[in-house]
Amino acid sequence: MLNLILFGPPGSGKGTQSEKLIAKYGLKHLSTGDILRSEIAQKTPLGLEAKNIMDKGQLVPDEVVIGMISCALETNPGAKGFLFDGFPRTSAQAEALDKLLELKGVSINRMLAMEVSEEELVNRLLKRGETSGRPDDNNEGVIRARIAEYHNKTAAVAEYYQKFDKVVRVKGEGGVDEIFQSLCNEIDAVMQV
Ligand code: ADP
Repeated sequence: MLNLILFGPPGSGKGTQSEKLIAKYGLKHLSTGDILRSEIAQKTPLGLEAKNIMDKGQLVPDEVVIGMISCALETNPGAKGFLFDGFPRTSAQAEALDKLLELKGVSINRMLAMEVSEEELVNRLLKRGETSGRPDDNNEGVIRARIAEYHNKTAAVAEYYQKFDKVVRVKGEGGVDEIFQSLCNEIDAVMQV
């Protein structure tokens, strides 16, 4: 099994690159942001609770997203591997993910951390907000709050996997295909091990 985390701040291109990576490597894409937005669209109780938090640019409680991932792992028993996108976002989520994978006798092979400057992130998210319909993308205050959550709570997740030597950093600025190629080079290197 190949289990990867695509990591980076909001707007770093995780969604765009995920689509290309799952197509190439046949992985199951698990994006907590996408799952939450689908819950909101279906107006489930979980979705209604999450919407208020997401609209402010804050993180949804750990137990909610951990439960979602646990359920997604159970419903995909035959997957060749998983691409985690937007998860784990806190150290508690990282520890929970490691335990869930351990139960399946597997682990994270690599964290691919995409690096993009803060001004570029804000510009990209404001531009995406013109067409995405995402309420968290069309307000600069909310975008800055999301980036602050990333620095305060999420950046530490890279340090967690760094301890196990699992992190590779990839430049997230440049053309989409160029960035994709850098990610593929790192994945191909893991697959040869
Ligand atoms: P982006 O990375 O562009 O901010 P996402 O779709 O990954 O977009 O996340 C959107 C929002 O969903 C986040 O701001 C947060 O409120 C919520 N969210 C997504 N994943 C998580 C997670 N793992 N833990 C807590 N909140 C999450």
